[in-house]
Amino acid sequence: MAKAAVKIQTYKNFIGGRWVKPANGQMMDNLNPANTREVVGRFPASTAADVDAAISAAQEALPRWKAVPAPKRAEILYRAGEILMQRKEKFAQDMTREMGKVLKEARGDVQEAIDMTFYTAGEGRRLHGYTTPSEMPNKFAMCVRQPIGLCSLITPWNFPMAIPSWKMMPALICGNTLVIKPAEDTPLSTINLVKVLEEAGLPPGVVNIVCGTGPEAGAPLTSHDAVRLVSFTGSTATGTAVAETAARAGKICSLEMGGKNVIMIMEDADLDLAAEGAIWGAFGTSGQRCTASSRLVVHKKVYKKFVEKLTERAKTLRVGNGLDEKIDVGPVINQKAVDKILGYILVGKHEAKLHLGGTQLASGNHKHGFFIEPTIFTDVKPNARIAQEEIFGPVVSVIPCGGLDEAIEIGNSVKYGLSSSIYTADVNRAFHAMERMHTGIFYVNSATIGAEVHLPFGGTKATGNGHREGAMISSLDIFSEWKSIYVDYSGKLQKAQIDDVQV
Ligand code: ADP
Repeated sequence: MAKAAVKIQTYKNFIGGRWVKPANGQMMDNLNPANTREVVGRFPASTAADVDAAISAAQEALPRWKAVPAPKRAEILYRAGEILMQRKEKFAQDMTREMGKVLKEARGDVQEAIDMTFYTAGEGRRLHGYTTPSEMPNKFAMCVRQPIGLCSLITPWNFPMAIPSWKMMPALICGNTLVIKPAEDTPLSTINLVKVLEEAGLPPGVVNIVCGTGPEAGAPLTSHDAVRLVSFTGSTATGTAVAETAARAGKICSLEMGGKNVIMIMEDADLDLAAEGAIWGAFGTSGQRCTASSRLVVHKKVYKKFVEKLTERAKTLRVGNGLDEKIDVGPVINQKAVDKILGYILVGKHEAKLHLGGTQLASGNHKHGFFIEPTIFTDVKPNARIAQEEIFGPVVSVIPCGGLDEAIEIGNSVKYGLSSSIYTADVNRAFHAMERMHTGIFYVNSATIGAEVHLPFGGTKATGNGHREGAMISSLDIFSEWKSIYVDYSGKLQKAQIDDVQV
């Protein structure tokens, strides 16, 4: 008997409050990275025409949305948070199927979107400005936040619901309208989030989603005249190109890009805890986090013992389809990622000692997915390419060091500055490291991953361009503009800096 064809679900763009096909009718398949025979769905391969339509819708919706009192905008976010909570498990399953991360991490990703949605909703009754004295008598001075306008949001595949929520929720509470372009590998999770906002009662045109590739659907979002702000998370190469285009077009631009994060393990550290943290930091999400702990700088006195503990634990990790609750490490995202990671493993073999792993798993249960073994390089020189460049896969470099100063120097020797951490029992050393590590995030006795939504998220140096998402104060600074207001009630002309006010 012939096998019935599996019906592939098709998805649309959301423009002006309607789900619509792309103008040219072209679609692209989203494959499950754990099993590429499974098509997760068929998504629009949008072009500039769709982006134009989405931008027009966002432009049209802007005056009305801006005028909605922020506490009322917040009510929609509260409702969205409730719906997200109800659908958490379904959305996590969808995410694992399209992105590959293991289910418990996918649940965490959805939870982060829930946290961000409720957290931002609370801001509807704050959005604080401030008052301050004027230098003239009978004159009142204050400043308030106002919406930026139309925002373009471009997001990556590794946190397909969390990252869109970090950008969308603050943009919305501030009174902006937006167009989001999710990564081509993970549009479903972002569509799920947009559907929730639609269901929660967001007016048409306030949020629009256009699916497609970076060059076809992303690039037009960075240069369109009506766009006021571009918020991007992704690779440093793409982010730099986005920033160049946005700068030429006179747009505000916030970037979150790469990382090469370090855990420093001192000789007084709890080595079991450090090894557990390193495993989670290096191999969680198959190393595909911008905060992944890809370098472990270990004091020579405990180097051998630590490597033993790390290896012992790494050997127990089960690699496979993240929908199976027993799996610890899922696939990497696509063939391009496999090629890149295997390329770095080859480089590493010439630069250091391949201590564990190093191969692609491609038979049996792994046959149709993008699986790479957790890989440990030891005796890595701090300036080796594998210790300097972002690999974005389950590959970790262990680097010996002679003490705290050297560890900090090695830690800071990369071009990125996202996250770093130290394992030590000595509070003085922890504080020294905290002060001297030039990163946007720092942990003590914990790996380099695990950011919470209410603290600033972002990095120094090549990681970003000075903005921070997450924490309300810093993300409001991205998604709103200050307006300074002076009210002169003296009834006469008063000149700041010129009139001599008598004391
Ligand atoms: P990765 O290499 O990890 O896939 P990218 O930085 O290329 O990461 O992708 C991050 C996001 O940027 C994705 O949504 C992608 O489609 C988008 N993108 C890629 N190229 C461009 C571009 N030229 N302009 C705008 N967005 C782009």
